[in-house]
Amino acid sequence: MIGSLMRNIFYKKLTSELTEIKLTESGFSIKEPFGAKPKLFNWKEINSVQFSENRDEVYFEKADKKISLKNNNIGWYEFIQNVPTRFKEFDFEYVSKFMNSLKACAVCGIVAVRENECIVCETITWNNEVIENEIEYIKSKQSELYSELIKSGTEIKKVAEPEHGFKADKNWKLYI
Ligand SMILES: [Zn+2]
Repeated sequence: MIGSLMRNIFYKKLTSELTEIKLTESGFSIKEPFGAKPKLFNWKEINSVQFSENRDEVYFEKADKKISLKNNNIGWYEFIQNVPTRFKEFDFEYVSKFMNSLKACAVCGIVAVRENECIVCETITWNNEVIENEIEYIKSKQSELYSELIKSGTEIKKVAEPEHGFKADKNWKLYI
């Protein structure tokens, strides 16, 4: 894969103060930034799971507490794809429509382009307003994206692999 390690480093650099959601065997954990211990949740103790009106947050209820998870939390897209079906109030149809609407990112190889921007690497998709031709553009964005790895002499994998709940593009090409 592009390297989950590399991706983690990269991702953390961009989103260091963000919360990380991870799936566990019977639920999920939420790790808030600045060294806090992850909080564990079991699906059994959750009363409801629902999107906010604009779909960029998910609220879940535990006892009398309402907790919000935002779509810029690491792991959010994986989380929304793994909500158990017993939460009837959750909009599963929206999730599958949304995931199916994503396009492959030519820069990082992950199927995570929404409108014209990749959710994973945050690159704007090449378009006619870019002065460079498409390949030159992808090449320069890949150089930017992998600059830390290149600096540290770490090999960049040539095949993209799924991550953060997103699929990988089998036809992805590394140009650098
Ligand atoms: Zn990308």
